[in-house]
Amino acid sequence: MSEGVNPFESLQEQVDDAAAYLDIDDGVLTRLKNPERVLETNLSVEMDDGSTEVFRAYRSQFNGDRGPYKGGIRYHPGVNRDEVKALSGWMVYKCATVGIPYGGGKGGIEIDPDEYSEGELERLTRSFAKELRPLIGEDRDIPAPDVNTGQREMNWIKDTYETLENTTAPGVITGKDISSGGSAGRVEATGRSTVIAAREAFDYLGRDIADATVAVQGYGNAGWVTAKLADELGATVVAVSDSSGGIHSEDGLDPVAAKDHKNETGSVVGFSAADEEITNDELLTLDVDLLVPAALENAIDADLAEDVSADVVSEAANGPVTPDGDDVLTEKDVLVVPDILANAGGVTVSYFEWVQNRQRFYWTEEKVNEELESIMVEAFDDLTSAYDDHDLPNMRTAAYAVAIRRVLDAYEQSGNWP
Ligand code: GLU
Repeated sequence: MSEGVNPFESLQEQVDDAAAYLDIDDGVLTRLKNPERVLETNLSVEMDDGSTEVFRAYRSQFNGDRGPYKGGIRYHPGVNRDEVKALSGWMVYKCATVGIPYGGGKGGIEIDPDEYSEGELERLTRSFAKELRPLIGEDRDIPAPDVNTGQREMNWIKDTYETLENTTAPGVITGKDISSGGSAGRVEATGRSTVIAAREAFDYLGRDIADATVAVQGYGNAGWVTAKLADELGATVVAVSDSSGGIHSEDGLDPVAAKDHKNETGSVVGFSAADEEITNDELLTLDVDLLVPAALENAIDADLAEDVSADVVSEAANGPVTPDGDDVLTEKDVLVVPDILANAGGVTVSYFEWVQNRQRFYWTEEKVNEELESIMVEAFDDLTSAYDDHDLPNMRTAAYAVAIRRVLDAYEQSGNWP
């Protein structure tokens, strides 16, 4: 893992790499590489013991040419301004890649949520929602979950917003609990799209995911659902990990039992059915068919990429491969399905949630999964067409080329307001 790589610089490099294949005015390219605005705020929160603690929080609205800003809110000690800017940019190109009518945004609070009580987290979240209120709205900017946030936080934000606005507006935020207006299938959506993307990638290579061995780095919501659904498709999950370390079994692990162990103990490490314990770096370099990085940015840098043995990488995390790591994987002919396609199921089902909220008409899980399947397969085909027809170096550049074209079309059609 490369701590030193700035994700915002990675995003800018990824945009530049694809822009080289498109005819883009310099000023417009600068626009495609920088956020429209970033809120930075210090939230004062009362702790359970009566003291006050201050937390730095951000919301970056990167680009709204294709629709309202859209993207999650992350709670993590590593959150910083450039990371949030990068994540918001990735959302722009992700929404464009799958063709859903949103721009991109992202938020974050610099905090380790494990160190705080539920009451403290609720006060913090409501304080952030109060700061966000003038910026967000069903047609303006629609937050969602990201690392270390979920239905609970989304429900608090919705309630705070609706209370302050004296209205009902479930579509102001997605990833809510079903009883608060959430969608069936939203919790599983990121893992589901990661597996669909991997399945299509094996198919593109003339292979079947059912024959694949799989390693998953990160066992949060995205990673664990990916492992479960890959297993359901017949693939063999041989290794999984979390921030405490990994476990490996040559003959395969039961993803659900590993998750139960993590729920009980806080980590997959110590799962008694596993053959051995391994480090995260050992997991990333295992000789498997499919590698799924599902943790944080910069997991695979150039050095580590040299040792990656997988044939296919499906990026459940945002930004897990650095640009230098990407060059190495391209050189080694590893098929990387980029984050902005592979993990787009989360925001795609967020879109379905928002549509249902606006219509006050709710879909079955079956319908959600069918619609997600067709959006993913169509988007995958758009990328492989761009990749094959224009002789692009890899699928990431193909994804950015397709996505940038879509953002540019919207920008050029609308014109610029002085
Ligand atoms: N945080 C997720 C992502 O990075 C989901 C965003 C959303 O649903 O708006 O794609």
